[in-house]
Amino acid sequence: MRGRPDRGTVATYIPELACVDPAAFGLAVITADGEIACGGDCDKPFSIQSVSKVFTFTMALGRYGNLLWKRVGREPSGSPFNSIVQLERERGIPRNPFINAGAIAVTDLILSGHQPREALGEILRFMQFVCDDPSVYIDEAVAASEQRTGFRNAALANYMKSFGVLDNPVDLTLGVYFHQCAIAMSCVQLAKAGRFLALQGRNPTTGLSVVPAERARRINAVMLTCGHYDGSGEFAYRVGLPGKSGVGGGILMIAPGKASVAVWSPGLDDAGNSHLGRIALESLSQRMGWSIFGA
Ligand code: GLU
Repeated sequence: MRGRPDRGTVATYIPELACVDPAAFGLAVITADGEIACGGDCDKPFSIQSVSKVFTFTMALGRYGNLLWKRVGREPSGSPFNSIVQLERERGIPRNPFINAGAIAVTDLILSGHQPREALGEILRFMQFVCDDPSVYIDEAVAASEQRTGFRNAALANYMKSFGVLDNPVDLTLGVYFHQCAIAMSCVQLAKAGRFLALQGRNPTTGLSVVPAERARRINAVMLTCGHYDGSGEFAYRVGLPGKSGVGGGILMIAPGKASVAVWSPGLDDAGNSHLGRIALESLSQRMGWSIFGA
């Protein structure tokens, strides 16, 4: 996999991400019984970007339950990750929690009643808890880089604010959002973090239930239908499993009952999803017979 020349293009709209080595490649698999198989740059932290949205969505569902669906939908968007077009037609309610607008609305809910620092601390602690590793950190250089250049996200947030979809001042919500996207994790840490989604909401390492089984099932459903922006149908067709990508080149993939997998290859395809990462996951899922749609 590492020797393949077709690697896609590293994201440059966040300047700090443009500095990442396009030749990096890491993969980590954690099976249901806790066995870890990994290779390449699997221990090197990378910017998880939108993969963080799985975890903020999980937190917000825990805090707000079905009330969350008043602020955000759960339908695939069929649009690019940072598109503003649908928001106008749908009166500021984002299609799903995984496109940028939806994730900003979710982060706004997490921020409500807190100072930005507290909300961010809560998000970071949740990440550390689910992967059982306190070394997970926020890459301040990436956060600052996105804060300087996040004009589209500012447009989305202001637009939602005009419809009353955000409760907090736009700059505070965006500050938390940019920092959550700048969380740095390795493939091994990320695969561990997703394990509860493969195991009906439980984390067997800590013995704790992260979410009820029914909620884990629903989070997986949204990952399957919305986790790769306008490439979600393609991912379902080729890989057949819930997954969430980020423009840092990471993808978290869940094989329910079987494994949690994280891959990292920074080159992206046209939809902003890791090009080689998707190919690696397609081949893994096929060889293991993991697709939820059968062999
Ligand atoms: N921080 C990125 C943005 O808001 C996340 C996008 C992504 O990872 O797909 O533009």
